[in-house]
Amino acid sequence: MKPAAVIFDLGKVLLDFDYSITARALAGQCAVPAEELRLHIDQSPLLLRYESGEMTTEEFYRTVREAAGYRGNYETFREAFGGIFAEIPPMVDLQRRLKDAGVHCYIFSNTNEVAIHHVKRNFPFFAGFDGYVYSHIVGAMKPAAKIYEAVEALVGLRGADLLYIDDREENIVAGRERGWHAVHHTAPATTIAAVEGSGLLPT
Ligand SMILES: [Mg+2]
Repeated sequence: MKPAAVIFDLGKVLLDFDYSITARALAGQCAVPAEELRLHIDQSPLLLRYESGEMTTEEFYRTVREAAGYRGNYETFREAFGGIFAEIPPMVDLQRRLKDAGVHCYIFSNTNEVAIHHVKRNFPFFAGFDGYVYSHIVGAMKPAAKIYEAVEALVGLRGADLLYIDDREENIVAGRERGWHAVHHTAPATTIAAVEGSGLLPT
């Protein structure tokens, strides 16, 4: 059976990111070295709370200020925290091909308000999706069931009607447990081949 919609993870699938860029950008105005600062923001319990929607961006900023002795202002912080993304061209091209073929595509991301603000501003392709599910809005992060349910509700489809692409194994496992057709993304070539094999693209 051919899937009816494609669900894209964002980070490391369509956009690469690197929090060491943030750490280096902010370190000059911090009491701690860049590497220690990175530990506060990269895959940290603090980032988890922020991306779960438990704290606002201003609260996140104030917490980093206290934890790392950051002396810069809020706007500088937003620029450094959000300016970490770079397009992964073959994957952006894959989404364009799907869109051109009339396939509905959705974004499904553990993310935060600053990241989305920057991505919208800097990457035109990002406007070309049919819908967006963000952890900080839903109040739950992948692989929690609640955020997968939010995708199913938004798209109006479930199970094998959804083709799901994500680079994190635990997220893929959670998708497969719901019957989604999930592709564990490790490299563009293999993911593109899997999508081409799904019958969604014209041959
Ligand atoms: Mg990812």
